[in-house]
Amino acid sequence: MLYYHPIYSALALPKHHRFPISKYQKLYQRLNNNKFAEHIKQPEQKITRDALLLCHDSGYVDAFLAGTLSDKAIKRMGFPWSRQLVERTLISLGGSLAAAEYALTHGIAANLSGGYHHAHREFGSGFCIFNDWVVVAATLIAQQQAEKVLIFDCDVHQGDGTAALAKGRDDIVTCSIHCESNFPRIKPNSDLDFALPVGTEDKQYLETVQEAITLATRIHQPDIILYNAGADIYHGDELGHFNISLEGVYTRDSIVIDCAVTQNTPLAIALGGGYQRNIDQLIDVHQQTFLALLGNPAIMI
Ligand SMILES: [Zn+2]
Repeated sequence: MLYYHPIYSALALPKHHRFPISKYQKLYQRLNNNKFAEHIKQPEQKITRDALLLCHDSGYVDAFLAGTLSDKAIKRMGFPWSRQLVERTLISLGGSLAAAEYALTHGIAANLSGGYHHAHREFGSGFCIFNDWVVVAATLIAQQQAEKVLIFDCDVHQGDGTAALAKGRDDIVTCSIHCESNFPRIKPNSDLDFALPVGTEDKQYLETVQEAITLATRIHQPDIILYNAGADIYHGDELGHFNISLEGVYTRDSIVIDCAVTQNTPLAIALGGGYQRNIDQLIDVHQQTFLALLGNPAIMI
């Protein structure tokens, strides 16, 4: 099942804002014309304040909800505050939770949003407000739907918020494969970090992904994998510094999907980053994740 809501792209941003907010709707349209049409639904519930408080500071959560964050905090978050942003954020995280719960019972699901790995306990950063995969992991554990959760992060940027939020928790395992010389400047340690140089190409990257997912799942035996399938590893990405081909993106996602299927471990996928002014080209990259799903004969979406 794929979760999508029109509000994912319905955010009024200043004219030259860096974030390609229309990508969610464009991806939805692309997939809706594909074999996925009957497998896309809207998340039915927003994430609750209680769920957010499992990982985030109540002062920060309430200030965001009420619109009383400082200008500095809003700037660091990367989006101007609006009532619409609050709705979009809560529904997006609801989509990530719905995908994870569906994956637990049916094997695999995706949210056509999410991957907000730069969100920290007390502040948002880099277009991330609340950290969906850590909030989802903590929720599943609190509700005894899972005992151990692996957050596997292949966005080109290191999952700093994820690493910081899961620090000290044995039940949330974090693994990040990222560019060593890119945002964020300060990279708190994940349980497993694979920092690769600027210009990394397919072969080295894909060997690392295979090694990382094998290692993380063998050592930790997670009940579910929460996967950040960032498209910003692509060589044409404007905020990534890797040199990964379109086929490389497809193969990366095939490796992760194949590992989950082979080990019979539920897998929930979030879209993650992806920054190109040419939205059609950007969708070509994000779409690889879903072509990889279609390419796995064991999967009934
Ligand atoms: Zn990124």
